[in-house]
Amino acid sequence: GNAILSGYGTTIFEAMSRLAATHNAINLGQGFPDDRGAEDVLQVAARALLEGNNQYPPMMGLPVLRQAVATHAARFYGLEVDWEREVMVTSGATEALAACLFGLIEPGDEVVLFQPLYDSYVPIIRRAGGIPRFVRLQPPGWTVDPADLAAAFSPRTKLVVLNNPLNPAAKVWSADELQLLADQVIAHDCLAVCDEVYEHLVFDGRRHLPLMALPGMRERTLRIGSAGKTFSLTGWKVGYVTAAPGLLQPVSKAHQYLTFTTPPNLQAAVAYGLAKDDAYFGLLAAALEAKRDRLSAGLASSGLPVLPSQGTYFVVADISGVGGRRATEDDAAFCRRLTTDAGVAAIPVSAFYEQDAPTHLIRFCFSKQDAILDSAVIRLKEFF
Ligand code: PMP
Ligand code: GLN
Repeated sequence: GNAILSGYGTTIFEAMSRLAATHNAINLGQGFPDDRGAEDVLQVAARALLEGNNQYPPMMGLPVLRQAVATHAARFYGLEVDWEREVMVTSGATEALAACLFGLIEPGDEVVLFQPLYDSYVPIIRRAGGIPRFVRLQPPGWTVDPADLAAAFSPRTKLVVLNNPLNPAAKVWSADELQLLADQVIAHDCLAVCDEVYEHLVFDGRRHLPLMALPGMRERTLRIGSAGKTFSLTGWKVGYVTAAPGLLQPVSKAHQYLTFTTPPNLQAAVAYGLAKDDAYFGLLAAALEAKRDRLSAGLASSGLPVLPSQGTYFVVADISGVGGRRATEDDAAFCRRLTTDAGVAAIPVSAFYEQDAPTHLIRFCFSKQDAILDSAVIRLKEFF
């Protein structure tokens, strides 16, 4: 294989899910809900599958979904979007990210990234010839040091990748932090690729604020969303990119050779879903907020203190003081033993780092039935 990609193993999500299945563990590792997802959205998809056209949809996506993405952006963020020239449908946020990075990065371009980061970013950036420049976020607050941020930018910076809300840190970027980033992007005349797949999963009365909505950022930002998170249907892989025509155009060139298109019946159902009433979006966040509190309290009472979770469906726990952790055991080894011996799978946070990873943090997904969360806590209590 090529030297860049052959350096990477199987993704941690796949590896931990496999280990969990083999050992009959409760899988709080890989991020996916364990319910059926939005029922009416499933019905629309089923009808579209049986009654609709199942041939190639247009390369940019079904007009009805592109219109829905534009309407959603105006409704939630006051963003004015021209659906015909500024929206493209992709096969999940994963493909949207790959299309943006392949479409925009030239060999030698620098890309600013925050650690911890989602696992697909860096391999794709490297494969596109880009050079990653990392900024560390410091736990437990995952704050950004303005001097570190400024130092990561240079005249060769092409773009910054921002994940907001942030997986696995469960951080929602504040307006001040976003402004700090926008100032750098504008000063260095570069772009921002914003992975906002968890945009509707924010807690405690927070509102998601897209970087794209800040002054001067509308023409410099590519905003990515995903039906997987918004409708609890992670297997569908329907994503979307919104950007000014001049930015979307090179990205569409990558998309037309990566996947070209996305199943039309799923696109039709997601278009329906994006127009759901405010109660749907409110209940989604409220239900997850209650699950966050349930699992966080359970983890704390079993001896695993947790860091704040402001958004996403993840919570990070600190294993540094945990009883039964072996002296030589890092987060990855601990997660494997937790899966095989305690029967609860989690994800080591070190998997979200390219360098200098912390080894005392592990991530749990709480988008599960209450009874499953409770069983997991019982197993952990018995184990520790
Ligand atoms: N970005 C982040 C931060 C994620 O956590 C995920 C995972 N689900 C994705 C992108 C991928 O989204 P999709 O399943 O729509 O490809
Ligand atoms: N985004 C999911 C997570 O962070 C996993 C997606 C995947 O398995 N690639 O757990």
